[in-house]
Amino acid sequence: MDATTLPPDRSPAEEPPEPVLGGVEEALLDEQAYDVLAEAAAVVDPMEQLVDMEALDRSRRLILVHAHPDDETIATGATMAKYAAGGALVTLVTCTRGEEGEIVVDDLAHLSSAAHDRLGEHRVEELATACEALGVRDFRFLGGAGRFRDSGMMGMPTNDDPRCFWQADMDEATRDLVRIVRDVRPQVMVTYDENGFYGHPDHIRANQVAVRAFVAAADPRFAPETGEPWQVSKLYYTTFAKSFIQAGIDHFRAAGEGTDFFEGATSAEDLGIGVPDEEVTTEIDARGFFDAKVAALRAHRSQVAVNGMFFALADGVGQQAWALEQYILVRGERGPGAGPYGREDDLFAGLAAPAHGSI
Ligand SMILES: [Zn+2]
Repeated sequence: MDATTLPPDRSPAEEPPEPVLGGVEEALLDEQAYDVLAEAAAVVDPMEQLVDMEALDRSRRLILVHAHPDDETIATGATMAKYAAGGALVTLVTCTRGEEGEIVVDDLAHLSSAAHDRLGEHRVEELATACEALGVRDFRFLGGAGRFRDSGMMGMPTNDDPRCFWQADMDEATRDLVRIVRDVRPQVMVTYDENGFYGHPDHIRANQVAVRAFVAAADPRFAPETGEPWQVSKLYYTTFAKSFIQAGIDHFRAAGEGTDFFEGATSAEDLGIGVPDEEVTTEIDARGFFDAKVAALRAHRSQVAVNGMFFALADGVGQQAWALEQYILVRGERGPGAGPYGREDDLFAGLAAPAHGSI
């Protein structure tokens, strides 16, 4: 598959962009991809009917800054689907096309950076399909598709490629994101923590660019040519509570599957990811969008093995956990919460209520 059709940059809030499905259908050539698309459509069509019945609520606007195609689904897919279905504008900014990703299916192996180096184009299509499954129509690449190349894992020679995101001019990348922020005017921004959740250089850069843009977008002296200043009200990092990770480990051990998915660890404390439960400020219960998340995951066919950890988690821990997505509020005022940790159940909690809405 070497189609090169790229989705155009998306329009601002007031002009919902055209659906991407047609372009994707033309571009997809193999039968398995058609199956994925059909599954995605089966999930998303009822969601669109739901949205049609309700007043569109563009007064709530959410922007997510991710590193590669597939990160949006794995970390925040259910949240994106929930807010999109509720009529909020959900804008996804992906920083690279993921050219260095490890290909998990043999029939796409020829696309790898070591072979034809066409994985980036393919992953743009996978992302379009995933966004269709999530009901998200506004997805863009930072600086345009292909502007910043995947840096590969930390320590790899690809980190030194002058085209890669790790080597990016931070002022340029910040300006590119500020332009989108000033265009979309979101109240809420989501990205990773300073370690990029698990240390990938592109995830770390995504955090740095997002935090810089959060501040710079509100500064009238910064890049005035990119639009009127805009203050995003809240900034969140994606996270998992240690108890969530422990539940996954315990589940696999109880099922006799061992701990291979967790680097052999039997305790979440031994892993370099996750935070204590009390640090999680916000949990989005998007169990109604579990199917959309799984369909979007299937769209990332080159990257997410159907016999791998993510599908095992979805099967094993099920909707209870896989569509509860957790966040830490790092900028802005925490809204009212509930439960033992006083967690918010809405990324917009505490912000002025929109004129109309359904979430
Ligand atoms: Zn990634």
